[in-house]
Amino acid sequence: MVVVMKSKANDEAIEKVVSRIEGLGLKVQVTKGEHQTILGLIGDTKSVDESMIYDEDNVEKILKIQEPYKLANRDFHPEDTLIEIKGHTIGGGNLTVMAGPCSIESEEQIIEVAKRVKEAGANVLRGGAFKPRTSPYSFQGLGLDGLKMMKKASEVTGLPIVTEVMSTEDVEIVEEYADILQIGARNMSNFSLLKKVGRSNKPVLLKRGMSATVQELLMSAEYIMSEGNKNVILCERGIRTFETYTRNTLDLSVVTAIKELSHLPIIIDPSHATGKWKMVEPMSKASVAVGADGLMIEVHNDPQNALCDGPQSLKPEKFDSLMKNITKLHKAM
Ligand code: PEP
Ligand code: MN
Repeated sequence: MVVVMKSKANDEAIEKVVSRIEGLGLKVQVTKGEHQTILGLIGDTKSVDESMIYDEDNVEKILKIQEPYKLANRDFHPEDTLIEIKGHTIGGGNLTVMAGPCSIESEEQIIEVAKRVKEAGANVLRGGAFKPRTSPYSFQGLGLDGLKMMKKASEVTGLPIVTEVMSTEDVEIVEEYADILQIGARNMSNFSLLKKVGRSNKPVLLKRGMSATVQELLMSAEYIMSEGNKNVILCERGIRTFETYTRNTLDLSVVTAIKELSHLPIIIDPSHATGKWKMVEPMSKASVAVGADGLMIEVHNDPQNALCDGPQSLKPEKFDSLMKNITKLHKAM
């Protein structure tokens, strides 16, 4: 349920309605917009009747929200969520590019890639220290050593860090090094992990599960937000279909759906979506054209010898030209 206050409602009138709602045992999220204030009711509203809240002079309308996600719902928060990371704003028409290797392999590698992506114009450095691999025999990431190497690369370049946290036990340590906590596709429905990062003060990049619907993705965001962390960035990284030519199938329509249903920013990961470096630039352009808030792109200094995801990684030169082209496209849009 959402209460839209009249534009003339002053602080005192708003406070009166808020305490009436709280008196019903519910929590209230107050969103003050440019022209109107919106009160979002959080909790079980089944037995709440509009007459319990209505105030003729100050309430414009009361809307029932059909969707199970509330805090992530655009009706609750009509304006886009903007997330500040070290002076850069994610959302609100900005294009945010997160780039770097699939995994941190050595200090030299991560510093080299960080410098190249920074020069090309990336805003955030990506790289995995804790890697969710399909096989237990594949490279699992450098763990804490990897985080330390990434921190160095961040200090050298000034780029903030996004890196994956795979389990609840690792949240504290990853939080210490990362500027954005990444929840991978395989963990999108790990509700204890979602709740734990929901109590963090670091923004969360939430990747869509391989077979998750748009509603399931938003419900996972709701898990994080319901614990207090409102800074969630959604990420489409391809879903499983019958098609095997590409690693996954990129669902670009999700951008339009999310823009309508939610106020959270959404970025696209064309690297994991396609699995093929040649497709990364065309799909990046398509993502910008459809209105995505950003991109997450794998870049490696030596893709042929990468320990993880070489075939979908761009060489720094290719990333350079991608950045030039998508910047032009974004401006034109
Ligand atoms: C990644 O971004 O490193 C990753 C493992 O992606 P996903 O969770 O989308 O598979
Ligand atoms: Mn990868």
